[in-house]
Amino acid sequence: MSDATQAQAQTTARFTPRVFSGIQPSGGLTLGNYLGAIKRFVDMQEQGIETIYCVVDMHAITVWQEPDALRRQTRELAAGYLAAGLDPSKSILFNQSQVPEHAQLGWVFNCVARMGWMNRMTQWKDKAGKNAEKASLGLFAYPSLMAADILLYHATHVPVGEDQKQHVELTRDIAAKFNNDYGVEFFPLSEPVIEGAATRVMSLRDGSKKMSKSDPSDMSRINMTDDADTIAKKIRKAKTDPEPLPETPDGLEDRPEARNLVRIYAALAETTPQAVLAEMGGKQFSEFKPALVDLAVDRLAPISEEMSRLMQDPAEIDSILGRGADRARQIATPILQRTYDIVGMIRG
Ligand code: ATP
Ligand code: MG
Repeated sequence: MSDATQAQAQTTARFTPRVFSGIQPSGGLTLGNYLGAIKRFVDMQEQGIETIYCVVDMHAITVWQEPDALRRQTRELAAGYLAAGLDPSKSILFNQSQVPEHAQLGWVFNCVARMGWMNRMTQWKDKAGKNAEKASLGLFAYPSLMAADILLYHATHVPVGEDQKQHVELTRDIAAKFNNDYGVEFFPLSEPVIEGAATRVMSLRDGSKKMSKSDPSDMSRINMTDDADTIAKKIRKAKTDPEPLPETPDGLEDRPEARNLVRIYAALAETTPQAVLAEMGGKQFSEFKPALVDLAVDRLAPISEEMSRLMQDPAEIDSILGRGADRARQIATPILQRTYDIVGMIRG
């Protein structure tokens, strides 16, 4: 181990393991969110580590959200977490805006993070595109608020999809710079946890683009609330190539669309792409796609049914989020206070 790596390992070893992650209520949940995030959040909840999961509504408004849609999406996302198995007595579940310490620590981190770091973020480049001048300041500052989300709880582990790896690395840079600037070992260097067969589920229409809830094309994604017919239609129309499936994952190298469907299948079946191809290698898509439809419907239908049941009682969802926020604040408040003390802010 290099000196720097050793120092890092020591800094993080001092902290009790704690998991934090969040999802934006920027649209309906997708299969990508489920396989890359929620399903793994639920797995981690069962591992005896403290788990904190957030509906990051303040991130969602970095792009325009109709207020009524934001409210509905926030409740629907909370329902998605619960329906997938998140247990609010085991995990802390809340929406970000109810814990104002996120914004407060976010401001401190805006003064730690450097413009050059933010400019290099690929999500910023992707989302702002050629229209950066018209993008909100919030969209640019997003990764600094995300660092605050994580570090406000001294979280050591952050389960995310592949697309968020760069932001968790930036979180580490912010923690390291804060610790170094103030001569403290206060914030841990949180680790991204990116595991499973589907850490980057791709669009069903374009194998080079990530599946996203904010993609304008509904055919590009499977939504957690899609019914069986819609799932069948989207998978049937998913872009593929004319070749049969290969016998091993090497054969998927230059076939992004085929690789995507195999990975989705593997993640839903809780197995590996190797195992899927050992069974399906040599088959045409005309045979593989119906098998994938059956599997997807089998896994998603119970979750979407439970989501619609929960959505019938929005007051109950709001009260779960409120209770979660109270618990989150018990952890967040002393960490923010200590941060202010370190920075030199007076508290009466
Ligand atoms: P948006 O398009 O508004 O950014 P999103 O679908 O990317 O929405 P986020 O709220 O940004 O969703 O991300 C929530 C979590 O889901 C993150 O951990 C992210 O890495 C994960 N995630 C998002 N899309 C995918 C995907 N296609 N495959 C795997 N994981 C994903
Ligand atoms: Mg995203």
